Amino acid sequence: MDEIRIPNDATYAPFSLTDIIATAPLASRLILGATLPGRLLSAAALGMYAGSAVKDWVSRRDMVWIDFQVEFGADVKTLMPMPEAARREEVARLAKRMNDGFTDERIPREALAKVVNEHLTEYMAGVTGQRVHTSSEVRDFTLAKLVFPFAMGVCDVISGDVALFRDTGIFEPHVICHEFVHRKGYIKELHAQALSYLALMASGDPVMVQSALAERLHRQIKVIAGEDHQAYHDLVDGIELRGELAEELHMLRPEAGAYEGSVSVVMKKLYDERMKLMGQNGLSDYDEGFTNFLYTFKQSRKCRQERWQAEF
Ligand SMILES: [Zn+2]
Repeated sequence: MDEIRIPNDATYAPFSLTDIIATAPLASRLILGATLPGRLLSAAALGMYAGSAVKDWVSRRDMVWIDFQVEFGADVKTLMPMPEAARREEVARLAKRMNDGFTDERIPREALAKVVNEHLTEYMAGVTGQRVHTSSEVRDFTLAKLVFPFAMGVCDVISGDVALFRDTGIFEPHVICHEFVHRKGYIKELHAQALSYLALMASGDPVMVQSALAERLHRQIKVIAGEDHQAYHDLVDGIELRGELAEELHMLRPEAGAYEGSVSVVMKKLYDERMKLMGQNGLSDYDEGFTNFLYTFKQSRKCRQERWQAEF
């Protein structure tokens, strides 16, 4: 098998380089009353950051990219809208499937990140015939947490740096896998959602499969409920999920605090606009787009991949 290795040097730095670039001058002014040490530190971090990004970019020259339209018969601009009745039917089946396959096994984050990365690498290699090796490092904190309080994790697509913002419970394999798809070089959210789901399902590992199905269920319920907070929680309570699973789904939509609430409204709008500028459909690609993708793939008449992968 063809193999390539993306160095992802920035992900091995002890601190997020982006954070140092952004804060070192300010921090040193506050602490030392001088800007020079901070500027030097910031310049050094910027040099490392840029160096790492260039190395990654060079190593991606021989990468074989997945053509989503060819492989799955579906891509950002060719999604068929899933009817609401089909969504509701799928939600009921997902709930049953998740109750039957429930596992309370948890894998510590560091070990989990390695396993997830292996499953993702193998899945993508099955599609392209090429193994793209990337770093399995994840951070607990970057400043992005303050800017994107509604996110569970982020990937800086330039450096490949990934941070998870909280314990994401049964969703953790999916959250990590989603960010790792970005790290491999895929920028679009629909692609990250789809490849993460398909790779985790293909692993056959109950912990991974549970996470993928939980994400699919969560996104379906979110689409049906729309912006209605109460409708979301009522839907979760109405599908006879095991208590442990229902609790995880409820926790994804807590009452937002004043800071998160107001920042989220502004940042979500900006983020939505940015996604559109980059040729995506907007924030809806995380839920509506993702579920439409599986729906479209399942019915596709022209795709290279086996369509049963969209079933569960
Ligand atoms: Zn993403």
